[in-house]
Amino acid sequence: MPQEFVLTCLLAINKEWAAEFEKKHPGYLKAKSNKNPQTPHVLYIGCSDSRVPESVVLNAMPGEIFVHRNIANQFRLDDDSALSVLAFAVESLRVDHIIVAGHTGCGGVQTALDTAHPPPPLHAQMDTMSVDILRGKISADIG
Ligand SMILES: [Zn+2]
Repeated sequence: MPQEFVLTCLLAINKEWAAEFEKKHPGYLKAKSNKNPQTPHVLYIGCSDSRVPESVVLNAMPGEIFVHRNIANQFRLDDDSALSVLAFAVESLRVDHIIVAGHTGCGGVQTALDTAHPPPPLHAQMDTMSVDILRGKISADIG
């Protein structure tokens, strides 16, 4: 499917959605526009899986949930994106709740489990340490 066609379709769908939403909730989107600050009470950290969009599964309105999503709803201290979302949510938006939400059948979690390597057996580690001690690579500081 040509990229321009996809973009045109998505923009048309968005326009239709906004018109329908305005009929059901007159003035809501204008009140939540960029002119007014957002005031969500929840930071939601969830999976990128297209089957679990937080606003759909939680039946939330625009502006109610501040979101960070990635594969398998990870939160890592070396992830600048996740850290900036958390800092903004807590310090600026002053959210009341932080939810880390997993979901059934997460492909990201399953892939992590499938590709994880168990640590070597303890006796193998001890054998390596014994060799290192014999070779003088490990020494103890006994004062
Ligand atoms: Zn997932």
